[in-house]
Amino acid sequence: MKVNANRCCVFCGSPADSLEHVFAKRLCKRAGAVKYPVIAGLSIEGQENVTRNEHHIEAVQVRYVCNTCNNTWMNDLEAWFELRLGFLIEPQWPQLALPMIEALKSERNKLAQWLMKTAVMFSLASLQGEHSVEFSPAVTQKIKDGILPKDCWIDLAFSKSVLSAVGGTITRCFYVKNGIQPVQSQVMKSGDGFKFIVQFNHLLLRIAQAPGANVTYQSQHGEIPVRLYPTPFLLTPENFTYEDIIKFEHSVVLETWQDCRGNII
Ligand SMILES: [Zn+2]
Repeated sequence: MKVNANRCCVFCGSPADSLEHVFAKRLCKRAGAVKYPVIAGLSIEGQENVTRNEHHIEAVQVRYVCNTCNNTWMNDLEAWFELRLGFLIEPQWPQLALPMIEALKSERNKLAQWLMKTAVMFSLASLQGEHSVEFSPAVTQKIKDGILPKDCWIDLAFSKSVLSAVGGTITRCFYVKNGIQPVQSQVMKSGDGFKFIVQFNHLLLRIAQAPGANVTYQSQHGEIPVRLYPTPFLLTPENFTYEDIIKFEHSVVLETWQDCRGNII
């Protein structure tokens, strides 16, 4: 394998000598996406209609990681994810999903670490358009130690529709409600916030960061996601079903106020 000597591992700064898939092969296999699964591309910010650029997952590789990171903590994380969420990412949603989701609450720090790591890998895979999400070394180099940026949260939901076995989307665009003004689509300044969603069959997971804003959800049929991190919901909502990944992405509405720390532009 040809090594680009100038490129450093995004997680530790060593030479990046490993070519990695954005989504681990073992998870794609478990999700039934063995051959040519595609990942959803970018959404057009602020619009209901979404353009999807489809990419063969085999083409979505990132040479931004070193062998040591890949073979140690990253591999451990993937093994942990498969052990704890393996049944939830299979094509058939498990009958015992609720206890599995409940069990994730006590392991939410590990889930946050997996999602943050995957968000970074996804952001590097050049699937982004305007307002791309970039993570600074100050953020990425702490992930291996399980340290996340402040004000992150994690939601879980069920997707009725499965457009592809494995997919994801990342953006800096949020719906924002400021005081009495109507809900608007706004873009966070780079480095201030992001929203990353990954879908494996019916399972939807979101990690997002929006400092200083109050996170609320708009709902069509009373659905609300399961908050797992930083403070899990005590009770799992009865209805956490969304039509698809896009409805799930658009469900977040940030409540801000004038001069709030959210730095919404
Ligand atoms: Zn490394």
